[in-house]
Amino acid sequence: MGSLARVVTVLPLEALPGVMTDPETLSVTIVDGYVDEPAHFGVPPYISTYPRYTAGALVDAGVPREQITYHTIDGLRDDPDRWRDVDEADLMIYLGGMTVPGKYVGGTPAEPDEVRKLAWTASGTSLMGGPVKFGVGDENAGATETERQDLDFDFVAKGDVEAAVFDLVENGLEGFNNRMRDVDEVSRWAREGAFVVDQHPNHPDHLIAELETSRGCAYRCSFCTEPLYGNPSFRPPPTVVGEVDALSDHGVKHFRIGRQADILAYGGDGEAPNPDALRQLYSGIREVAPDLETLHLDNMNPITIVEWPEQSREGIRIIAEHNTPGDTAAFGLESADPVVQEENNLNVSAEECFEAVRIVNEEGGWRPGEDPDDAPTFGDDAPRRLPKLLPGINLLHGLKGEREETYERNMAFLRRVYDEGYMLRRINIRQVMAFDGTDMSDTGAEIANEHKKLFKRYKKQVREEIDNPMLERVAPPGTVLPDVHLEYHQDGTTFGRQLGTYPLLVGIPGERALGQTIDVAVVDHGYRSVTAVPYPLDLNAASMDELTAIPGIGSSTAGDIVVDRPYESVADAGLDTTVDLSQFVTTRPLERVN
Ligand code: SF4
Repeated sequence: MGSLARVVTVLPLEALPGVMTDPETLSVTIVDGYVDEPAHFGVPPYISTYPRYTAGALVDAGVPREQITYHTIDGLRDDPDRWRDVDEADLMIYLGGMTVPGKYVGGTPAEPDEVRKLAWTASGTSLMGGPVKFGVGDENAGATETERQDLDFDFVAKGDVEAAVFDLVENGLEGFNNRMRDVDEVSRWAREGAFVVDQHPNHPDHLIAELETSRGCAYRCSFCTEPLYGNPSFRPPPTVVGEVDALSDHGVKHFRIGRQADILAYGGDGEAPNPDALRQLYSGIREVAPDLETLHLDNMNPITIVEWPEQSREGIRIIAEHNTPGDTAAFGLESADPVVQEENNLNVSAEECFEAVRIVNEEGGWRPGEDPDDAPTFGDDAPRRLPKLLPGINLLHGLKGEREETYERNMAFLRRVYDEGYMLRRINIRQVMAFDGTDMSDTGAEIANEHKKLFKRYKKQVREEIDNPMLERVAPPGTVLPDVHLEYHQDGTTFGRQLGTYPLLVGIPGERALGQTIDVAVVDHGYRSVTAVPYPLDLNAASMDELTAIPGIGSSTAGDIVVDRPYESVADAGLDTTVDLSQFVTTRPLERVN
């Protein structure tokens, strides 16, 4: 076991020794080690709520903005000089914690050794907070067990870190009571802390702000840390809208409403939907940030849709009307096996989840430029844009009661969705992490480890049999993906993603300059990624690599195209391809010599 975090109690003020530390003179460094929780994401290009709320709490407690420095862990790795801010601050706050496993392209979460180094480097007071309070694994991976460690920090916030920070500053850095913040506080802190986004390395263009609408959950799944926040408590629409307003003033154009267990339950009694609250939230956001470029969500509970289908349909319509295309409602089915469902207190059956998939497809599966009543649409006649809102499916392995049949049942569920003509935007398959305080902590990672081989085989099967054809249905050749941010090169291909919830990985032939954004058109499909060419593709300028990426164009045809340039029109080239080139290929008007 790791050493237990220190329990701190506030002394009566008159009992505090020495002179109080004046907030106006305090220098504070916030280090973001990133978070990934079941309902909260904060690995770049995302910025979680923690650094924003923490900065707001500091300002509210009297610390001047100019004395608050914010670094990401990647920022510290990239420039060792920044460690000086960790060393010299009067107060150093570390924020982090991964309570779901994942692999990330946009940033690398802090490792326990780095977190320990932060504590050792800090000459001032050090405080650690965020989901790290739930436990720390040896690595951020599935099938691991975790325990809580204090990693040598002076203080560990076991309630809300932003409340701890506020109280700590108010108490002259002497201590605080562990507590949760209330709605008034979070409303103020969210607005006042928006300025900190200016210091994020991805600011302003490649940054997406995770927004919180509620915490806690009405259900109690065995593996999940969300119920540790209690029953749901909602932030009223004006407080979220006010925060978006402030973030937008600081240049943020991309938003994800991701910090909640179930967006459909927003503003209701904890379980049933309240479409009026959803309308206020979504239309309010559009009003204060009319130029936003991304508005996506995360997490929708399928059981809400099944139990309140009419209100849910209305809620989904409101979301699809206000969001941006490519949005995903991630459903936590976790297992299609009734035995696993029973033993882990999962709240939705495969049949119910299928019903929810159907309803989201019918209400949100339309594409910009077409009649929403036609949803779900795919095939030759569908507009070449991503659908507005589709379900995603989360499946979790290593849960209590898991058996070989579990894998077969999950496959059968996915096949049924495909065969009956519905779309899934994403299938997420993971292995369980066991956290103290959840029911899974007794079982630990034992079942996940026993089933590792089975898991690998099944994952491959899902990728090949379902993901690939499903992706072709969701994003057929010619589908335009605007603003793909180019992130890295591999084997002569440039890879990038749009900003948004679970964006598709896009491979573009050739090595293009990184850091820029370009519009692309999909030409081919992998399991979870697409091949695309710049949109529109100019037949008079396209490279050989770009031309051969189009199905039906081999290298000899591509060579002929290049040799026979220029063309007046695409038809002039007389190409015989399986994809409709008119969707994305053009010819630049030829310059004429007078
Ligand atoms: S429904 Fe289950 S998995 Fe989802 S947030 Fe609630 S407890 Fe967690």
